[in-house]
Amino acid sequence: RDEVVLVGRSNVGKSTLMRELTGHKVKTGKKPGVTRQPNHFDWASEKFMFTDLPGFGFMSGVSEERREQIKTDVVRYVEENADRILVGVVVVDGKAAVDIIDRHSAEGEVPHDVEMFHFLQELEIPTVVAVNKMDKVDDRDERLNDLCDRLGLYPPWQQWRETVAPISAKRGSVEPLLEALRTHFHDQKRDDLL
Ligand code: GDP
Repeated sequence: RDEVVLVGRSNVGKSTLMRELTGHKVKTGKKPGVTRQPNHFDWASEKFMFTDLPGFGFMSGVSEERREQIKTDVVRYVEENADRILVGVVVVDGKAAVDIIDRHSAEGEVPHDVEMFHFLQELEIPTVVAVNKMDKVDDRDERLNDLCDRLGLYPPWQQWRETVAPISAKRGSVEPLLEALRTHFHDQKRDDLL
């Protein structure tokens, strides 16, 4: 079956988004780093499924070694299933993402979110960055432009609506993400899906 995968750091709101998209109750608040298996959820029409991959990056109480292992597992899952992945969604926390990216860059590391974004693109998987928690962001356009810049997308962000989708999963406003998904489904001649 065809699938849309969700990847992202721990605590960005992936479970909340999954619940909003599929209506399935996704267990939240579980101890981070414990769930290592992909979670599959049928889209209402059962024409494709969403796959929630384990959150990676910093989690308090989770060893560096284990965090690395989670990321390796996520990367492997995407590689092994690349042929049937319709769209890869990188979920980020709109309030925190740019600061986290800049901090890692300053330390000479490739930030996880940026790495995942490029990784999906290298595999030629259409990619959407779901910028979540936008309800907490005041300087919306500036934040989104900064994020585009860090991802190597030339601002303004409005030029990238099929790639950058500002949402608030908690408030139930996810239409920009659905719109981006529709665009990618259409490009793949799968207008039947959404
Ligand atoms: P996960 O670890 O990525 O699955 O994140 P969760 O879905 O468990 O959410 C982490 C925290 O972020 C929870 O406290 C959520 O209520 C909160 N959260 C999720 N989405 C939003 C949102 O759109 N806005 C705000 N303000 N908080 C959110």
